[in-house]
Amino acid sequence: MSEFAGLTAIVTGGASGIGAETAAVLAERGAQVAVLDLNPAGADEAYLRVACDVSDSQSVASAVAQVVERFGGIDIVVNNAGISAVGTVEDNPDDEWTKVLNINVMGIVRVTREALPHLRNSDAASVVNLCSIAALNGLPQRALYGATKGAVLSLTYAMATDHIAEGVRVNCVSPATVHTPFVDRMLQGFADPVAEKAALDARQATGRMVQPREVAEAIAYLASPRSGSVVGTALDVDAGMTHLRPRKV
Ligand code: NAD
Repeated sequence: MSEFAGLTAIVTGGASGIGAETAAVLAERGAQVAVLDLNPAGADEAYLRVACDVSDSQSVASAVAQVVERFGGIDIVVNNAGISAVGTVEDNPDDEWTKVLNINVMGIVRVTREALPHLRNSDAASVVNLCSIAALNGLPQRALYGATKGAVLSLTYAMATDHIAEGVRVNCVSPATVHTPFVDRMLQGFADPVAEKAALDARQATGRMVQPREVAEAIAYLASPRSGSVVGTALDVDAGMTHLRPRKV
């Protein structure tokens, strides 16, 4: 399949987990892929791998410039880089709030701001942000993380409104728990990581965590002209976690 032939895609955080799987799906379908990551060496060498810290404006500006220099433009941005945080409002100090907001929310602002002048020149411009079910569900121990993803949801709606007249579609995906290194690290924050993993699997209506490829497929759909009339939406890839309720028997 070559639906992305001739298109250039940036995937932030594309060296691991959902981002790595997304980069693979886009590349398999013909996109020229640039991975912007703190650890670019972790990404497949078939991609343009650019060292980038999305929490640093200069780093983002330099990375986006490298992509444009190599490929001549940008058509797709997947704002995927993000970090986890566990705890209630009592558990994380101010500097932790600042750090996570600066990556999960401001990272999207910085990368999109740098990419927009190039996206406006594309006939197939699409931005896909990584939100989470934590945006709309009060998950335990996710005060900080949930707040950042609530902001990603609002930001997605606002960006979609502001830029659709310029031909730039903006959407987001909201996964439930996806079995990636991000989750494995988060599990280590619990007293019994094995029991917590079993509980996470059991909490999904499907009995298992979401797979990275399932999220990457949703991102690829939103990135593609196939979703040309899908604008300012959050696509849940959540095994029904947001809207399903247990059956009464
Ligand atoms: P991951 O930890 O496996 O990968 C994240 C990648 O982002 C890594 O390659 C890391 O180097 C990179 N990164 C981290 N900070 C960065 C920074 N400041 N600048 C540039 N790159 C940086 O994570 P994942 O599980 O694949 O999650 C990816 C996204 O999906 C995140 O935004 C996360 O919030 C979201 N998400 C994940 C889950 C889940 O259960 N895994 C669920 C919902 C949403």
